[in-house]
Amino acid sequence: SNKTAFLTLAGSGQKIPQVGFGLWKVAPDAAANLTYEAIKSGYRLFDGAYDYGNEREAGEGIHRAISEGIVKREDVFVTTKLWNTCHEKKRALKVAKQQVEEWGLGYIDLYLIHFPIALEYNPECARGWYYDGESQVRLEKIPMRDTWEALEELHDSGLVKNIGLSNTNSQLILDILTYARVPISMLQIEHHPYLVQPNLIDFCKDQGILVTGYSSFGPQSFLELPDSFPTKAAQTPSLFDHPLINKLAKKHGKSTSQVLLRWATQRGLCVIPKSGRKERMAENLDVVGFDLEENELKDIAALDMGLHFNDPGVYLPGKPLR
Ligand code: NAP
Ligand code: NAD
Repeated sequence: SNKTAFLTLAGSGQKIPQVGFGLWKVAPDAAANLTYEAIKSGYRLFDGAYDYGNEREAGEGIHRAISEGIVKREDVFVTTKLWNTCHEKKRALKVAKQQVEEWGLGYIDLYLIHFPIALEYNPECARGWYYDGESQVRLEKIPMRDTWEALEELHDSGLVKNIGLSNTNSQLILDILTYARVPISMLQIEHHPYLVQPNLIDFCKDQGILVTGYSSFGPQSFLELPDSFPTKAAQTPSLFDHPLINKLAKKHGKSTSQVLLRWATQRGLCVIPKSGRKERMAENLDVVGFDLEENELKDIAALDMGLHFNDPGVYLPGKPLR
């Protein structure tokens, strides 16, 4: 089956693989090996972030594959993201340069603003949502324009080849489009059958913005979060056990995960599933070589509940805000 498909980014005309590997919750001491194994099993797109705390290690895995002649730099596509605590323009520029160095690949292919939420920077604890690492939320008064303009400067300098957004709605995109000089190439959003987002996806298509869906398996990814991140995952039926997804998997002779990922890729999205297991890694990549029928795509979309698991509106309230 045809394992690779590519989409084209507005910013550069560069191609991005439609299926990639997600690096959220990959422990730093596992990231180099996992990234290297992912390349060996055929992955060429990696989705990282400052917040994930494993960029240097993921870069090492890519390096190993390059030095062994398995891939060339230009065959690999690296996405990474600016964290909420680094929205201030000067800090964004400085941190992005550090991130480029950590990956050690000369440049980043796609750089996203992780959330349209600016938080105060604490040098002792620059990752995560909480200023004190536990519960205190400190907002910072930085408008998105400052941060977007920092990304444009990074784009101008060639350190990052494409720029984009994550976790925003169409309203904010419309605002950014009133001043953007460099195209918004990508929007990365939570997307699964319980959160279908048809209007936002259509909007992006009209604007020439590609969409990446994350947490393609819905609640699964959120079950492993610490209790300090309240989510609705444990109360939500698994998509892997869902009768409709199972029925379609049987019918097409595929796994449930492949049905979930094919549904998203047939809607024109990139996907970036993460797995720590080799067999799943391979199965998650092999999701463009079969087609669901039009009515099957609709049946899956009908499971929509508008259910966000990754929801700052849940992380932030009830915490001391200042
Ligand atoms: P995901 O990839 O949708 O799901 C991963 C979970 O599914 C893990 O528990 C994994 O377990 C399991 N899994 C993976 N493949 C499977 C398969 N074939 N069959 C059954 N279970 C499978 O979750 P995600 O990490 O939330 O989302 C993917 C990526 O999106 C992230 O890594 C990150 O790069 C990105 N993301 C971005 C944002 C953002 O704010 N922009 C937010 C969330 C995620 P095993 O590892 O045990 O296989
Ligand atoms: P995911 O939907 O990829 O799920 C991950 C979970 O599913 C893991 O617990 C994994 O063990 C399990 N899993 C994987 N394959 C499986 C299989 N075949 N069978 C059963 N379980 C399986 O979740 P995710 O990590 O939330 O999202 C994927 C990627 O998206 C992340 O790694 C990250 O790169 C990106 N992401 C970005 C943002 C953002 O804000 N931009 C937010 C979340 C995630």
